[in-house]
Amino acid sequence: MTSRRPALTLKSPDDLVAAGLVAASRRGEIEKIAARYAIALSPAVARLIERGDPADPIARQYVPDARELVRDPAEDADPIGDALKSPIPGVVHRYRDRVLLKLVSVCAVYCRFCFRRETVGPGAGALSAADFAAALDYIRARPEIWEVVLTGGDPLMLSARRLAETTRALAAIPHLRILRWHTRLPVAAPERVSRAMAEALTRGHDKTVYVALHANHPRELTREARAACRRLIDRGVAMVSQSVLLKGVNDDADTLEALMRAFVETRVKPYYLHHGDLAPGTAHLRATIAEGQALMRELRRRLSGLALPTYALDIPGAHGKVPIGPAYLAPRPEGGYDVADPEGLVRRYEDRVAREGSRGRGEPMESRGDSASRA
Ligand code: SF4
Repeated sequence: MTSRRPALTLKSPDDLVAAGLVAASRRGEIEKIAARYAIALSPAVARLIERGDPADPIARQYVPDARELVRDPAEDADPIGDALKSPIPGVVHRYRDRVLLKLVSVCAVYCRFCFRRETVGPGAGALSAADFAAALDYIRARPEIWEVVLTGGDPLMLSARRLAETTRALAAIPHLRILRWHTRLPVAAPERVSRAMAEALTRGHDKTVYVALHANHPRELTREARAACRRLIDRGVAMVSQSVLLKGVNDDADTLEALMRAFVETRVKPYYLHHGDLAPGTAHLRATIAEGQALMRELRRRLSGLALPTYALDIPGAHGKVPIGPAYLAPRPEGGYDVADPEGLVRRYEDRVAREGSRGRGEPMESRGDSASRA
């Protein structure tokens, strides 16, 4: 294979062959996948791929694989049930205090494991003006909605002007306090995360703006990606991360540790490590929950709480997201708990509190079990 470095987004099987990302003998295989799912590798992402390494963790996220056309019976085109919780176009209302607003269905890159892979792609377009107005009405009519999660696709694909208009419209809703944008753009096209974009997200309102950055491997947090995050953060945006646990990409403790440290160094608080959703044709990229829990146990041993994400599962059928990290606590039949310390040793904890009315009558406060320093 060659090591040509593309300047344009790679979208077709021919592009991938020409860029040296797949052998010409695989062109037919890639064509079959391209007929089913969108393909895009931005220049920033294509540059990261180590040509000649069949196990490259960046390639695995973005370069199509024949196994995508193999569908496990448990997989579903809408694995987390967006459609079941969508009262009007573009809005997903799964939890009482927040809604998702899907502004666009395009992305700078198309990830092979995407849980919305059946709905994202270059032909899918954006929310119409009428649907956006209806979404605003929906939010305005529900004072319990405190947060809007702007998603897609990748909503930061919109121009700075459109982002400013969207921000202005949402910021005019008094009970909405948090505007949270979910994006892969600082990794996929860091040059597009400009000061103008940061201004568009933050200027002229008093809402709190979060950007949730999606990255799965420490190599994705390049100097340029970190600078893109800095442009947002320096303008007042708070950042959190989200990653997906992916076989052959980040399903080892060293990679996850490096990824979480890279987030924290970039001032991005690790937020979620998602268990891979049951999206069609993604079984080869999923780890098991037991593997994920073992990795989280090891991360807990190595990292401070600041660098630990929550390992979470979106329950199929729109039943919501729950933490599925390893359990450290087990009740004892006689009362109290067995609790595993970070090294895996089981300690006993007496769950004791003062009895009602015991204060001031000479009765001691009851012991709360072992004490430990919390570094
Ligand atoms: S950027 Fe996000 S929405 Fe777009 S393909 Fe990747 S995971 Fe899916």
